Amino acid sequence: MSAILEMTRQITNEVIAPMAAAVDAERRFPKESIEALGKAGLLGLLVPKELGGLGGDLTDLSAVTEIIAAACGSSAMCYLMHCCATAVVAAKATPDQAERYLKPIARGEKLGTLAFSETGTGAHFYSPEIKAVLEGDRFVLNGKKSFVTNGGEADFLIVITNASSPELGLDMIIVDTDAPGLRFEGEWEGIGLSGNNSIALHLEQVKVPATQLVGAEGDGMGLVFQVVAPTFILGVAGVNAGIARGAYETALRHAKARKYADGRSLAEIQAIQFYLSDMFGGVESASLFVRNAAAKAVRGDGDAILHVMQSKVLASEQAIRVTNLAMQVCGGQGYTKALPVERYLRDARAGAVMAPTTEVLKEWVGKSVAGVPLF
Ligand SMILES: Cc1cc2nc3c(=O)[nH]c(=O)nc-3n(C[C@H](O)[C@H](O)[C@H](O)COP(=O)(O)OP(=O)(O)OC[C@H]3O[C@@H](n4cnc5c(N)ncnc54)[C@H](O)[C@@H]3O)c2cc1C
Repeated sequence: MSAILEMTRQITNEVIAPMAAAVDAERRFPKESIEALGKAGLLGLLVPKELGGLGGDLTDLSAVTEIIAAACGSSAMCYLMHCCATAVVAAKATPDQAERYLKPIARGEKLGTLAFSETGTGAHFYSPEIKAVLEGDRFVLNGKKSFVTNGGEADFLIVITNASSPELGLDMIIVDTDAPGLRFEGEWEGIGLSGNNSIALHLEQVKVPATQLVGAEGDGMGLVFQVVAPTFILGVAGVNAGIARGAYETALRHAKARKYADGRSLAEIQAIQFYLSDMFGGVESASLFVRNAAAKAVRGDGDAILHVMQSKVLASEQAIRVTNLAMQVCGGQGYTKALPVERYLRDARAGAVMAPTTEVLKEWVGKSVAGVPLF
């Protein structure tokens, strides 16, 4: 195992796993997890080595999110959204942006996230309504974003907007969360990932220096498809493979430990063995598919994007299936908070509805294999 994965496993065992039930029950941001990951340098996983980061790639990211999510889905999701924001900055960082964002990220001092979704655009996050209005040497932003993970905790956001002139397309802008006119609102009320703090963001006359633009005006769409999509999709596929693995391992332990009065364990019952086989296959196939897709993306294989898109579909569907089976194996005890299976089941439901959603990805994969244009 690589040093990065070994370190992730150690932090997960020592810090993240012991907090997971409390993060879920108290619906609170997993501060301890993020701090521990930061201290170990893992917030800088995607920061180049020459800037003090770990210089990791998408195979590392999907494996790291899988390990964390097997213990705590909320921690994994918060970590992933930070890594997506980091990847955007790292893709086109100016020397000033590298100094003010990437180096502190590598030291574990800054947390980021993506502010993409809007209520008006829903799953089609690449069609925002917010516009970057250029006034002299700064952009002025007005509008509302929804579902901002790490909301209220992040130090900076990557905000996707329409460029100052419609013909330019989309922009991505780094916005510090202490900017005047920026405020978060509400509480995360989702059924799962209870600690991910995905809340609404209001931007009222927020003035951002033009130097905060990532790349040039109009680079936003390229960044969506070349940077955010592979990073988020493979990361969230890893999260879902991890949630499935956590549920499977919990169910397996329970099946071996639960004994009836005659001394037989649940694991000795054939119906339960069928479920265990089914779960084992589901977890391993999801995990392997994600790993293979990530390796293809890193190598730049011609068919990488197809595998990347399908990896989220597959891992999200397996997470829902496997967590459901795990609850069946654990019976009434699984339905209560005596076991973490009900948490895994709730957490597993998010992946399929996070954009790009399962429906959108299936359409894109189907069109790609059939040779039909995507748009
Ligand atoms: C836990 C969680 C964390 C999140 N974190 C972030 C974050 O950090 N930053 C961020 O920007 N966003 C985030 N999101 C938002 C997320 O990525 C989606 O944008 C959001 O969930 C879309 O929700 P909606 O209700 O508007 O979906 P809708 O767009 O209303 O979609 C509803 C359903 O219709 C389907 N559908 C819509 N259009 C089509 C189509 N053309 N073809 C087929 N089916 C279609 C969808 O697949 C979905 O099943 C998060 C969401 C969740 C659940």
